[in-house]
Amino acid sequence: MDLSRIAALRATPVPPALHLIDGAACPASDGGTMTARSPIDGSALTTLARGTVADADAAVAAARRAFDDGRWSGLAPAERKRILLRWADLIEARALDLAVLGVRENGTEIAMALKAEPLSAAATIRYYAEAIDKLTGEIAATPPGTLGLVHREPAGVVAAIVPWNFPLMIGAWKLGPALAAGCSVVLKPAETAALTLLRIAELALEAGLPPGVLNVVTGEGPVVGAALAASMDVDVLVFTGSGATGRKLLEAAARSNLKRVYLELGGKSPNIVFADAPDLDEAAAVSAAGIFRNAGQVCIAGSRLLVERSVHDAFVEKLAAHATALRVGDPLDPATGAGALNSEAQLARSLRFVAEARAQGRRIVTGGDRILPETGGYYMAPTVVADVRPDDRLAREEVFGPVLAVTPFDTEDEAIALANGTDYGLAAAVWTGNLGRAHRMVRRLRAGLVHVNTYGGSDLTVPLGGVKQSGNGHDKSLHAFDKYLDLKTAWIKL
Ligand code: NAD
Repeated sequence: MDLSRIAALRATPVPPALHLIDGAACPASDGGTMTARSPIDGSALTTLARGTVADADAAVAAARRAFDDGRWSGLAPAERKRILLRWADLIEARALDLAVLGVRENGTEIAMALKAEPLSAAATIRYYAEAIDKLTGEIAATPPGTLGLVHREPAGVVAAIVPWNFPLMIGAWKLGPALAAGCSVVLKPAETAALTLLRIAELALEAGLPPGVLNVVTGEGPVVGAALAASMDVDVLVFTGSGATGRKLLEAAARSNLKRVYLELGGKSPNIVFADAPDLDEAAAVSAAGIFRNAGQVCIAGSRLLVERSVHDAFVEKLAAHATALRVGDPLDPATGAGALNSEAQLARSLRFVAEARAQGRRIVTGGDRILPETGGYYMAPTVVADVRPDDRLAREEVFGPVLAVTPFDTEDEAIALANGTDYGLAAAVWTGNLGRAHRMVRRLRAGLVHVNTYGGSDLTVPLGGVKQSGNGHDKSLHAFDKYLDLKTAWIKL
């Protein structure tokens, strides 16, 4: 990694950020702004336009005009592909600049940010661009004298509300298939992670995306996000974030135009280690990374460790050693293993969970505290809490911080009961050398993604989505197109 370039970029002032509506940068309708703070040291980084309902409505109107006049939706798929591929190239060419800007705003360690953010976003946009001119419709097996044609049409105006943990990666999971499908988009970034999304939206214009096709409105969720959810002119609403917000979006859709709503709401993912795991040392190392990378702010984080009692103490010791050894600190130092939490609020939330566990008498094996307060940044020691009981808040609610809850089990049935015993169902993992047990567990675990003898690895080619209160619909893979392409039947009498 080019250290002098990183040093130069971190010292570069960030100009005030504006919305991008109808191809033009513009301030909030009332001139309002909000401060973007760097979690690295708590300093003010720049200001963002504090969007209003009028701004959200203007962006939806621009997206609607762009959709209805066919400037994008009406292009040949191969032409959309050409522009999207150029966009992906521009993002990739500026990967380090985007990664550093993103780290300054959201605190993710740079090595991970580079890979998971701009490079992953470019790969995602390429994947959907490459796919769009290979999708076809259907001719149905209709009775003689009739012809049933099934077309796939772009769904219309998409509102995408995204979180702060991986803004470019998660943003591209929505933008890639939506734009390739021919939809127009209004994107609402999180309050604490908007700058890189604004930057790639400018690059989209440079690549030739017509104005109005991709609009970005910054500001507060309960104002801008709520206005998009309540809009009568948004056809599809896609979201990644908390369950509490997800509920509000469903309510707003029901009260307005019954827009389709797709939710990715995180999890409390069980990571189940059996005594017959092929390599307990590897399991400990990978499990530690699965909860502590990006300071635990990962929707599929393996935040509940369930360990077979016969190896419990030894395994917890191994895992705690990895937690203690992890280098936490300046996320722009490539040697850092875990960076800052995204905001003071997220740090406070994580510490609250630990304080409650402490008060309940649970065992804090390592960590538990804020560290490096002298930097002004939002850092927390990787934390392992043992003897957590199934009804504890720490076992049921998503912390979204570097806090691992550990519970022992004795049998396969007990492991399943514990694993499936929360409202969530996003990810899970099983570590075992017994093939039959591995397959049994995959079938019995209620989760959209089950890892076997690994944690956290995945690929764009496979879908990601939750069951139960982790949401509905899928990001990634060709299945993501289902959200952005409507089926239309033409029934013809021959
Ligand atoms: P959040 O759900 O409030 O924010 C996510 C996005 O929704 C942001 O863009 C936000 O501006 C927007 N939003 C907030 N309120 C809204 C509303 N009323 N209407 C429309 N949009 C709204 O999440 P948060 O407060 O940033 O984080 C809280 C918790 O959510 C975290 O601790 C974590 O448990 C969870 N979370 C999950 C993910 C994930 O990847 N699944 C990502 C971020 C947060």
